[in-house]
Order: sequence, then C-alpha cells, then structure tokens
Amino acid sequence: MATNQDIIAGVVQKVIEELMGPKSTLPEGFKGIYDRVEDAVENAAEAQRQLIALPLKTRDKMIAEMRKAVLDNNEMLSDLAIRETKLGRYEDKIRENILCATKTPGTEDIQPLAITGDDGLMLREYAPVGVIGALTPITNPTGTFIHNGISMVAAGNAVVFNPHPTARETSTKMVEILHQAVVDGGGPPGLICSIRTPTLDTARQIIEHPKVNMLVATGGKPVVRVVLSSGKKAIGAGAGNPPALVDETAHIRNAAECIINGASINNNVFCTCEKEVIVVDEVADSLIKFMQETGRAYLLSAQEAQRVTDLVVNEEGKINIGFIGRDVQVILKEVGIDLNEDYRLAIFEAPKDHPLVWLEQMMPIMPIVRVKDVHEGIRFGVEVEQGNRHTAIMHSTNVDNMTAFARAVQTTIFVKNGPAYAGIGLGGEGHTAFTIAGPTGEGMTSARSFTRQRRCTLVEGFRII
Ligand code: NAD
Repeated sequence: MATNQDIIAGVVQKVIEELMGPKSTLPEGFKGIYDRVEDAVENAAEAQRQLIALPLKTRDKMIAEMRKAVLDNNEMLSDLAIRETKLGRYEDKIRENILCATKTPGTEDIQPLAITGDDGLMLREYAPVGVIGALTPITNPTGTFIHNGISMVAAGNAVVFNPHPTARETSTKMVEILHQAVVDGGGPPGLICSIRTPTLDTARQIIEHPKVNMLVATGGKPVVRVVLSSGKKAIGAGAGNPPALVDETAHIRNAAECIINGASINNNVFCTCEKEVIVVDEVADSLIKFMQETGRAYLLSAQEAQRVTDLVVNEEGKINIGFIGRDVQVILKEVGIDLNEDYRLAIFEAPKDHPLVWLEQMMPIMPIVRVKDVHEGIRFGVEVEQGNRHTAIMHSTNVDNMTAFARAVQTTIFVKNGPAYAGIGLGGEGHTAFTIAGPTGEGMTSARSFTRQRRCTLVEGFRII
C-alpha cells in the first residue's frame, strides 16, 4: 500500500516532469565524469530535481554508502593522492579520509526550526540551493571531495566539481567512487560529477553557467576573489597562516609535542597546520629543547636555516612549490643534511621579518620567533595571521591570556593546548570540514552552509500548548 510519503513524492515528481520535461538518459556504465561543462550542469540540475522528490531516508542511505565507499577504498585513494600530487604522507591521508568520512555531518545538520504562538506555527527549513559548482585545491583531492560531497548532497543539492588540474587523476577516481555510492544508495546518477579535463576555462564556464546556483571555492586568495565577484551566492574558503603562540604559563613539554604533531601532519599541507611558532622568551629555550628531545624535530643552525630558506623561497620571495608537502628528509637532503626516518619537522629560530614567518610554507620547516612577553606575542600573532580569519593556536594555562589572544586574532578556529588539527575534529570535539570558510564567515562548513532558508507559516493552527 502506498504511504503518504510515496503519494507526495509521486505528485512532486509529476509536477517536476511537467515543468522540466522527461528525464534524460545517461549512458550505460556512466561514472559521473563529463567532457563538457554544459552536459555536467544540465544533468546535475535534473539529478537534483530527482533528489528532492526522493524521501530523506533515501538521502541518508546515499550518505551511508558514500561514507562506506570512502572507508573501503581508503588505501587506494591515499596512495593515489600521494603518488599523483607528491604532497603529504600516506598515513596522514588515511587519517584525513577517515575523518571526513566519519565526522562530516549528514541530514541531521539541516533540522528545521519551529516557532509556535498565538498566531499559529512558523517553520523555518534549510532548503537546497540547487546545483553547486565546487572548485577544489591540489592539497586535498580526497578530503575536500568527501566533505563537500556528503555535505552538499545531505542538503539536497547536486555538485559539479572542477578539480585542480594537477590532482586530476585522484579527483576523478574520488568522484567516481562517490557517484557510484550515491547510485547504490538509490540516488540519481549525475548528482555528484566532475569535469574530465579541468582547466581555468572549465572553471569559468561553471562559474558563469546560469543553472549553477552557488559557488564554493576552496583554495588560495585569488580563486576566492573570483567566486566572490561572480554575482552568485558563494562560499570562499581561503589560505591561512596559523600562528601557534606559547606563553610562559604553558605546559611546555605538551606544547612541544602538540606543535610537532600539528605542524608535521601531512607535511604541513593542511591549511590549518601551525605555520609559525611565537614563544615568550622566558620559555623559548625549554620549548626548543623539549622539541629536540622528541627525536622528531631537527634544530637547524643559523647557517643551515639560511641554506634551507634560499632553497624553499624563490627570488621573487614566493614559496618554491617544488618543496610543498615534501618529507623533511627530502628537503634537507638538498642542502646536505641527512636525517633519519623518525624526523618529521625542521625548526629554526627566526627574526620577525623572516619570509617563512609570513608565507604559507605548507612544508615541514617551522620558524620560531621569540617575543619579550605575551602581549607582544598576541600583537605579533595577529599581524602574521594577516586577517585571513583562519586558524590560531595557543598554549597557555592563563585563561585571561587565551581569551585576549582569541579576541584579538578573530580566527575561525582557535585551538587551546592541542595540535591545530584538533580544531578540525581530529582528536578534538565537533564535526570536521575541509572547506573552512573564513572570508565569507560560514566557518567549519557543513550541510547547512549549502542551503537557503525557507519559511512556512500556518496561521492560527498547530499550537498545542
Ligand atoms: P589554488 O587557489 O591555486 O587552486 C584552488 C582551485 O581553484 C583549483 O581547482 C584551481 O584550479 C582553481 N583556480 C585557481 N585560480 C583560479 C581562477 N582564477 N579562476 C578559476 N579557478 C581558479 O589553491 P591550491 O594551491 O590548489 O591549494 C592550496 C591553497 O588552498 C592554500 O592556500 C590553502 O591554505 C588553501 N586551502 C584552504 C582550505 C580552507 O578550507 N580554507 C582548505 C584547503 C586548502
């Protein structure tokens, strides 16, 4: 017997078909990858219309299948990502994918709000935006797709990805896996899709396509600027330069451990990783000594630090991208230093104006800057964060100091007494996000970020108290 839900779904489907024409058919064995933006967007728009006619429990099933498919394919995906992009570490990619598969919220994130009163009932729901165009970074060709895919579908949308060209193979595989999972869960084909040969031109076509309702850019400042000037609803998740401030009240040995763990995960490629340490002079020697004692942080002499800087910062004062995400052993070998396999990070004392303090290095080379006291540390931490509104970290037991830095720096993520990655839910409370929207303010994005609000008002009814 047909349930109420089936009857409503049937009516919705009929109305959609009358308005939009019959369903198009995709070729047998279609995997979610298109040669042309036009085809991708047209089919995504139709798949999205089919999705919203399906019950929420089907959406939940699709998301469960996506989580499972990522976990089932984790080793292959992690290996492929490392081999193709040469960024990061295999074991950390595994952790990234598990984190995204298990801690990205599903439909529970779009629960409505109901208000009742003398005038009746007001219901506010988080509705889909439609088709989303997502531009993804070279640094996370798995994590961003898993997080964006689950979140955007949970919110009832379709997504057309334009991956970073240098991570094309991994991104394509990733989308194929997510696409199949959606279909296995009972969802429409073409709901999650990607462009076979992504370029800046295909990105432009997606951005300008009239059936793309929203844009999401996860990357550096320029691409965030591009989507924000598109005239469409857009989320910009941009670059960071997270400072880790250590004051004289911190548990210094714990701070040393946390900074090494946080700054070296995936060879410092995550945008949230600690990118410079600022330490109050009184405890600076202890911090460096404890870092060295772990056997995982190598202290560069002043001369060695200069050689490494000349290697990784080019003549234009920019990061030499050939060293981004590489193991510390690989980088230091270039300047004649051989490190054993246990090392994860090279550290060095840097003046305030050192280029690696100001640049987003995304490699396991960590400048440490001494400051006279916590006040100077807070001021300098705010300066080097450069208004990115991204991430800051503090090691302290003084609540006033932590509050002062958190208020002054105004970042989206503020981590106290832990590695920066605790702020994205890895060993810290809360959901994860691999699109952290500082510039546009959605913060740790989730399904709700990819919605528009709709209100339904029932006059003088449904108040039962
Ligand atoms: P990127 O900005 O070079 O590229 C990101 C994406 O944007 C790619 O798909 C690229 O092809 C596209 N793109 C770049 N310029 C474009 C333009 N003018 N028009 C259209 N598309 C354009 O970034 P990347 O090097 O791939 O990734 C590293 C950067 O991303 C770092 O700065 C890192 O901090 C940042 N990032 C931020 C987050 C976050 O959540 N805030 C997450 C991961 C990475």
